[in-house]
Amino acid sequence: MAIFNLGSVNADLVYRVPHMPAPGETLAATGFQRGLGGKGANMSVAATRAGSHVEHIGAVGEDGLWLKARLTEYGVGVGHLAEIAGPTGQAMILLDAAGENEIVILPGSNREIDRAMITAALAGASSGDIAVFQNETSGQVDFARSAKAAGLRLAHAAAPFEAAAVAAVLPDLDLLVMNEVEAAQLEAALGLAPEALPVADVVITFGARGCRWIATASGRSEDFAAPKVVPVDTTGAGDTFTGYLLAGIDQGHSMSAAIGLAQRAAALMVTRLGTADVIPRRDEVSDV
Ligand code: ADP
Repeated sequence: MAIFNLGSVNADLVYRVPHMPAPGETLAATGFQRGLGGKGANMSVAATRAGSHVEHIGAVGEDGLWLKARLTEYGVGVGHLAEIAGPTGQAMILLDAAGENEIVILPGSNREIDRAMITAALAGASSGDIAVFQNETSGQVDFARSAKAAGLRLAHAAAPFEAAAVAAVLPDLDLLVMNEVEAAQLEAALGLAPEALPVADVVITFGARGCRWIATASGRSEDFAAPKVVPVDTTGAGDTFTGYLLAGIDQGHSMSAAIGLAQRAAALMVTRLGTADVIPRRDEVSDV
């Protein structure tokens, strides 16, 4: 089976600075690194490294062709990653000496994905394939409706959180993944506890404290402890978790087994500095 991911592709531009610049201040960076990022790209790389076939649906500008080349190098299907005028989505990340960060995101090409691109991509999907999306692109509602109508299993990672965006797709979802902050925001916005959401499976992640799976139909919920690691950089932990979780489901594992795999991959990810480029490969993640 395959995973169709409507998702952002960003150039992560990381500037190391001695301190955060004050208003009006001009500052020389002490270092610079450019990498592949964006929640969508991270999830595509994670699910691919977990051994699944992923078709990434998105858009880059001509300044982002290197991102497309890198996704290709990593084995992600880019036949539906459109090349448009741009600019490509980017995240400008300032990292100070104390490890604090400040981030400015330019959505750029990620918000230029239209219904025609989505329809064309999903024409290649089969019933039983998995569709996933986050909230850093345009086209989410079209994607959710079309994927559901085509018989795909629909998963959503509700990040960055926007209550109206989740509410618009909620009735179509089979699986919803949120961190604990997003789960609290959703409960506050809708007045519905996670157990009461009209979604068959809800997974809430709690960082170092692991995650909870709620099977809403049976009312059953199960907590999973996270492996103990010394965290170096938690960027991309949630994306790695979701990508591996979907790959586990795609490969026919039970929900518990897929969550276990996702947690081991995400725990390894937090021991590494960087985003998509350093997401663990399946053979690095223990089978336990
Ligand atoms: P997000 O990155 O979306 O905020 P979380 O911080 O909840 O999401 O992390 C997602 C998953 O990554 C967790 O459920 C856990 O499996 C793993 N993880 C995150 N931080 C740690 C940590 N410090 N130690 C072990 N696992 C972690």
